[in-house]
Amino acid sequence: EKAGEKYVYDFSEGHKDLKQLLGGKGANLAEMTRMGLPVPAGFTVTTSACQAYLATGSNPPGLAAEIDEHLAALESAMGRRLGDASDPLLVSVRSGAAFSMPGMMETVLNVGLNDESVVGLAAQAGGNERFAWDSYRRLIQMFGKTVCDVPGDEFSNALDEAKAARGATDDLHLEAADLQALTDRYKRIFAKHTGHEFPQDPREQMRLAMEAVFRSWNAERAVLYRRQERIPADLGTAVNVVAMVFGNLGPDSGTGVAFTRDPASGAQGIYGDYLQNAQGEDVVAGIRNTIPLDDLRTLDRRSYDELLEIMATLEGHYRDLCDIEFTIERGKLWMLQTRVGKRTAGAAFRIAAQLVNEGMIDLDEALRRVSGAQLAQLMFPRFDLAEEPVALTKGIGASPGAAVGRAVFSAERAVELAAAGEQVILVRRETNPEDLAGMIAAQGILTARGGKTSHAAVVARGMGRTCVCGADQVEIAADRFTTGGRTINEGDVISVDGTTGCVYLGAVPVRPSEVVQYFEGEQTDSVLVDAVHKLMSHADTTRALAVRTNADTAADAARARRFGAEGIGLCRTEHMFLGDRRELVERLILAATPTERADALAALLPLQRADFVDLFRAMDGLPVTVRLIDPPLHEFLPSLEELAVNVAVARERGEDHAEDAQLLDAVRRMHEQNPMLGLRGVRLGLVIPGLFAMQVRAITEAAVQLAREGLDPHPEIMVPLVGAVQELETVRRECEQIVTEVVADSGVHVLIGTMIEVPRAALTAGQIAEAADFFSFGTNDLTQMGWGFSRDDVEGAFFWRYLELGIFGISPFESIDRDGVGRLIRIATEEGRAVRPGLKLGVCGEHGGDPESVHFFHEVGLDYVSCSPFRVPVARLEAGRAAI
Ligand code: ADP
Ligand code: MG
Ligand code: MG
Repeated sequence: EKAGEKYVYDFSEGHKDLKQLLGGKGANLAEMTRMGLPVPAGFTVTTSACQAYLATGSNPPGLAAEIDEHLAALESAMGRRLGDASDPLLVSVRSGAAFSMPGMMETVLNVGLNDESVVGLAAQAGGNERFAWDSYRRLIQMFGKTVCDVPGDEFSNALDEAKAARGATDDLHLEAADLQALTDRYKRIFAKHTGHEFPQDPREQMRLAMEAVFRSWNAERAVLYRRQERIPADLGTAVNVVAMVFGNLGPDSGTGVAFTRDPASGAQGIYGDYLQNAQGEDVVAGIRNTIPLDDLRTLDRRSYDELLEIMATLEGHYRDLCDIEFTIERGKLWMLQTRVGKRTAGAAFRIAAQLVNEGMIDLDEALRRVSGAQLAQLMFPRFDLAEEPVALTKGIGASPGAAVGRAVFSAERAVELAAAGEQVILVRRETNPEDLAGMIAAQGILTARGGKTSHAAVVARGMGRTCVCGADQVEIAADRFTTGGRTINEGDVISVDGTTGCVYLGAVPVRPSEVVQYFEGEQTDSVLVDAVHKLMSHADTTRALAVRTNADTAADAARARRFGAEGIGLCRTEHMFLGDRRELVERLILAATPTERADALAALLPLQRADFVDLFRAMDGLPVTVRLIDPPLHEFLPSLEELAVNVAVARERGEDHAEDAQLLDAVRRMHEQNPMLGLRGVRLGLVIPGLFAMQVRAITEAAVQLAREGLDPHPEIMVPLVGAVQELETVRRECEQIVTEVVADSGVHVLIGTMIEVPRAALTAGQIAEAADFFSFGTNDLTQMGWGFSRDDVEGAFFWRYLELGIFGISPFESIDRDGVGRLIRIATEEGRAVRPGLKLGVCGEHGGDPESVHFFHEVGLDYVSCSPFRVPVARLEAGRAAI
């Protein structure tokens, strides 16, 4: 218990940097009050009072007295007493946490009304009884719902019936008597569900509402939301008590929301909605049609001008796009909320660059205001909506992209049609592990249920498949779905936008990303591209991390270089063993004698060398890390089942099957229960004589050939899956001999290093550094082995459940697990560098392109990250952000 802690702050006492204590809403109301803007008087009960309440189940000592004090001050400022029978002060009781949790928590308006003060309120409003009863019925409705868990439908059904009885299309057509009758009805609903009458004591109403707001912090949906967004569970919410101002007093009153710039494009201008004669949530609830903010100019010129002036003041003050809630009470403007507004990815870049141009912020600040995730969004192709396609429905954009295809309703059909060359969209109520093959076959996935962490969403993101989930208006049957009165049958073409969540009828044309065109070096003329260019350039000047790419082919290498890659951090050599070379590899694996093996290797050597020549040429002057062969060799052989069937069939028919039988023997011999933990990586190099030697020779000969042509190759040979320095030493001795012999006087310098991807390697990094010129953290395997998760098996099978339970907020394959796997990286970094100062350190797992992870690698002090070509710009941007 913190003795003497201050739990209540008047709006005049706080400011915008007290978000942790006062919540975002309270801190910004205080800030606007300090700025002299027209904010109704009020006070904020702190998040720490909420924490105390939630810990003990009752208000902390002293809180009640403090609230009394602040309420008394509020009453005297307003010249009215809370709920006074003849001239009542009314207040709103509003939740507001440090992080915005949209729609998660609660607010009650018009607190202080009861059977007596409703009469006083009418008198006070010049005999406006309609207004008074409208306010009272709203109080019972909101109080019932949020404080006492009365089902909201009961109230809205009663309202609908009242409207129907009047033949009214909206609530404005209800008159005072109707609303009074409705209030009675609401009170009966309230009593029926709670077992007691609606509380008449204003102070009691206020206390109960405040405690309900405290408790709403732990409402189930709020708990889930916080887990998903990784918001700490113990912050608590603040409560704001605000003197009511009334937008429902008549046509000269109203309520609205506004943005200081367009949150979709970032363009400056007037954006917002206004609703005449309405209160609070009516605007967002969509119960009546709003008018564009611009039309307020003709309705109420004075308030409009004042609002615009205040918006300019707020922008100047917050130096950012703000969103605003306001109310006009009989021609007098009141500010009820502001915060730095949410925006689309494109707007984030445009606004940041504009604010720099306007001299409002500097480039560092601009870089803080954009993110790699936003940049990644801008790099996806988009639908061209110029032709105004038919919108079918809207769900949650769970995995970005623009996918077009025929609707199918089962994984089997998805696979069938895809095999026949059709593009398909898999539509399911929700997906489960059995749908995996269909998800792989589809261009995109649409589900009716589930959020951003549902099975569909998690798996789609993992595969880079476009996905819209939770489109809850969609009714799905076995071979069709319906939405908004339309039916889509199997085979009908639909278009799915995984960024916005929109689903369209027919094939919407897809437009390539202009940001990608810019990275590709094409001339583009757009405000967005200018903004991206400005911020990318600044990121490049601030970042400490270099960014390389993972690329196996010259074409990928060249593209990544255009995207800004400064070398290759991982070239996998195994694809070089596929295609028509498979036969040579089979010969190698099946070799019965050293001579046969040597022949097979000799045949592979020139092919590999040619690959490296192309690759080093594309990356001339930059480092290229080549990983020696990593996967278990049986991956290059036909499958056991298939071969066994072939042999059996041939035998039955009396055909010659000697060759297949020999192959089958080999496959049987090499079959592993757990291949990821079997004969692979450095283990292969130690067991199959000459295999690594051939690769090292191919790499070095390629480099020497280019050096003789006058180019500048920088090969780095990387040994995978090392767990003990002895493994590396053995391989290194063999490699060095070949390198020395081949390099001769060519001037080529070859580094030999290792991946750190087995936990034991991280823990003995001090020893391993003795034999390594560099480390590259293979974070995929390190995560796999660190957690004991087989990646291929767990992501589709149960990760969605782990996410749902909040065991982790994000898959550890998506974003580095700082505490566990990250700790291994820290240990290896420190111990490796202690032994060998200047040891070059990089990351080549997929985490190298993940924004959060890039920040971690910067903190740890690595030299570079390496990621797929498309993630290179994202990594550059985030590395820049990490360094400011
Ligand atoms: P949310 O966080 O869901 O927006 P708020 O606490 O901001 O909830 O309040 C809901 C609605 O009620 C908003 O439109 C707000 O502007 C309005 N409102 C809140 N307090 C008052 C007040 N004292 N007078 C008039 N309207 C209010
Ligand atoms: Mg609000
Ligand atoms: Mg690996």
